[in-house]
Amino acid sequence: MALIVQKFGGTSVGNPDKIKAVADRVLRKKKEGNQMVVVLSAMSGETNRLTDFAMQMQDIPDSREMDVLLSSGEQVTVSLFSMAVKARGEDAISFLGDQVRINTDSSHTRARIASIDTERIKAELAKGKVVTVAGFQGVAENGDITTLGRGGSDTTAVALAAALQADACEIFTDVEGVYTTDPNICSKARKIDRISYDEMLELASLGAKVLDIRSVTFAKQYNVPIHVRSTFTETEGTWVIEEDQEMEGRIVSGVTYNKNEARITISGVPDQPGIAAKIFTPISDADILVDMIIQNQDTGNGLTDMTFTVVRSDYQRTIQLLEGIVKEIGAKGGVHGSDNITKISIVGVGMRNHSGIASTMFKVLAREGINISLISTSEIKVSCVVEEKYTELAVRTLHDAFELDKAYIPEEENL
Ligand code: ADP
Ligand code: ASP
Ligand code: MG
Repeated sequence: MALIVQKFGGTSVGNPDKIKAVADRVLRKKKEGNQMVVVLSAMSGETNRLTDFAMQMQDIPDSREMDVLLSSGEQVTVSLFSMAVKARGEDAISFLGDQVRINTDSSHTRARIASIDTERIKAELAKGKVVTVAGFQGVAENGDITTLGRGGSDTTAVALAAALQADACEIFTDVEGVYTTDPNICSKARKIDRISYDEMLELASLGAKVLDIRSVTFAKQYNVPIHVRSTFTETEGTWVIEEDQEMEGRIVSGVTYNKNEARITISGVPDQPGIAAKIFTPISDADILVDMIIQNQDTGNGLTDMTFTVVRSDYQRTIQLLEGIVKEIGAKGGVHGSDNITKISIVGVGMRNHSGIASTMFKVLAREGINISLISTSEIKVSCVVEEKYTELAVRTLHDAFELDKAYIPEEENL
């Protein structure tokens, strides 16, 4: 008898009929002789709806209360799912994060899983029940409800699969797997059959939200193979596994976009030692994460510009914080920025051994008249910040330029 963890995302449980369809699918798998643990997200749109309510109460909602609020979304779906299973003549039991218990640290709205108690789940499975666990939530040491950050139900599922030493971890979603880019904005996107943890980590960190990055970190650490596949078809999806010889050896394997950042520039900054620390220390003290940073060359007048990106929801807060700092350091050009930006990235482990990939990306964007305002590179990715309105165009053109729609044929030297 195998133990299978299946996770269904928001669109898969978006209304009562869809929840019933998920119950049918889970029970088919159970009837094959498997023990089933099912992790569910909130109904699609629900977490956004609740966040919107919170914003109407407080400009920056209290994070502890935010977790009490947001965790309710998953409470609805797991209870309804259990009822649907019971209505089909099988037994089921739902658990919230603090009932399992999924123990986390106390960083509200972005808690990390520290450990999972599996006894109750195992006891209920042994009684023949389908066990369903609310995704995205846990409990801090003091008993407070925590949530794991957006997309966190993937992480709940993989962490449970690791803790239960499950035989399989299946992530069901609204697309048939991990694609070379978001199939919802590029019709030529191609499904990848097998992808390494490292490449998936990079794609997820740069915006491919099909898997939450922390779920991939867990999967890599505990060697849990993940099968990402569609809720609505039986088609084989994508396997996220350890790197092996038979994996595609492409130079660029995917194109991603992230609309969740904002760009901020401080102009006329005196070019002196210690200035960067004066700007970025208060930002990090305020728990604001900075991604890309570029400091321009002093143009001869002893002044420079500093540009960086932050998470979009921190944009206004960062601007407010910097207004005082700008005066203190005497930055004559003040602080300005834009939250209509997108970070477009190309990713591929093969880039390690090839030159000219970044320049191809710049040429392709220039040909379409797309201006690049920030660039960052690492061994296996190149990222460019562009205006948000160019997102689709940039993604499609880069996907074409690197021929990601074509099946990969290894070069002779690689055979
Ligand atoms: P769920 O609610 O099931 O967790 P998500 O919306 O979080 O689903 O993730 C699935 C979505 O991820 C897809 O609908 C797709 O638009 C988006 N996506 C972005 N990049 C990719 C990619 N490279 N491959 C597949 N899907 C992607
Ligand atoms: N409901 C949460 C979200 O929308 C968690 C998840 O779906 O994974 O982000
Ligand atoms: Mg998701």
